[in-house]
Amino acid sequence: MPTPYNFLNELFKSHVVITDVMPSSPRSSPVLSILYNENHVIHKPFGTSPENPERTTRIFRYFQGKKEVLGEEVELRVDFPPATVEDLLRVHQKEYIDFVRSYCLRGGGFLGDSTYFAPGTFDAALSAAGGAMKALEMVVTGTRRFTFALIRPPGHHAKADTYGGFCIFNNVAVAIRHVQENFGVEKVMVVDWDAHAANGTMRIFYEDPTVLLVSLHKDPKEFYPGEGFVHQIGRGKGRGYTVNVEMPEGAGDREYLMVFEDIIRPVYEQYSPDLLVGCVGFDAHFSEEMTHMGMTSQGYYDLVRGLSELGGERLALVLEGGYNWYNPRLAHTVVNAMLGRPHSFKEDVDILSSSVTRPEKVYKITRQKIKEVQDILDQFYRF
Ligand SMILES: [Zn+2]
Repeated sequence: MPTPYNFLNELFKSHVVITDVMPSSPRSSPVLSILYNENHVIHKPFGTSPENPERTTRIFRYFQGKKEVLGEEVELRVDFPPATVEDLLRVHQKEYIDFVRSYCLRGGGFLGDSTYFAPGTFDAALSAAGGAMKALEMVVTGTRRFTFALIRPPGHHAKADTYGGFCIFNNVAVAIRHVQENFGVEKVMVVDWDAHAANGTMRIFYEDPTVLLVSLHKDPKEFYPGEGFVHQIGRGKGRGYTVNVEMPEGAGDREYLMVFEDIIRPVYEQYSPDLLVGCVGFDAHFSEEMTHMGMTSQGYYDLVRGLSELGGERLALVLEGGYNWYNPRLAHTVVNAMLGRPHSFKEDVDILSSSVTRPEKVYKITRQKIKEVQDILDQFYRF
């Protein structure tokens, strides 16, 4: 007996075939939605912070009104409902939600762990989670093949009972619980390649076999958030459903794509999830000075294209970090990648040369890190 989700899935497959036959039909509806929570601007720092409204307003302005960039296949959406407290409660503790609300009502302030609350933060955070919920929901129901939740504040460091690293509520976790509870989705796989480990997402699903997290991030030994180590593979029934890949400083396109082929692809094929979600952080790009990683837009393009293909030309992307001036171009790159359009943007060659000539050592360390992941997970997967 098919689950409601599988039924929708079957319906959607037939929709895909029709759209493939008539890709440029004037009657074709968008296949990709970008969901943007306009009210994020009320979540703003009292002083300076890399996590500020400019991060996403610049991306939105870049896309806005540019039909020549977006084409008929892409729509910008700002009209989705915010998450409710009930939605948050599937992930977060009531005491924590109450704390965030009351702290914002009292005017907010800086709380440590890089995280600030402005008076409007509670509302902005509800809308961010609502954007992620809508992004996953649209892909699950077949309304769109691809979605990109262009939202802030980000979420992947937020745990059930606490904020951290610019994150208030864990947007992707709230969205996953939403589609599991309301749309019959059983298994979800998340690939998070923000430069920082998805430690909040990891903690939330650590004992849950229905959500498989693969997090690629800079080795957390001396880097925020200080967890997300290869030996952290889940607990109890969740053992084997958390995969942490420690990337060496300077790791770039070649290294990330090696992880895609050697870990993400085999794990995906054996786990066989109902839904694939990408948590994209633009801070693994070589221009991000506080992370010192080496990805270029080509790497973002190839990784997102690979994930789209893996997901059967269906993918929901949720924005996490990324604080550099390449953000709009990188957002455009991942949109092109999802749609299978050519990669249209190359970075300045002079800037790029530093990542091209990175030492062979980075490649060798990555190989070794991949081997460690494969060894520790060989009781769960064939590599
Ligand atoms: Zn990050």
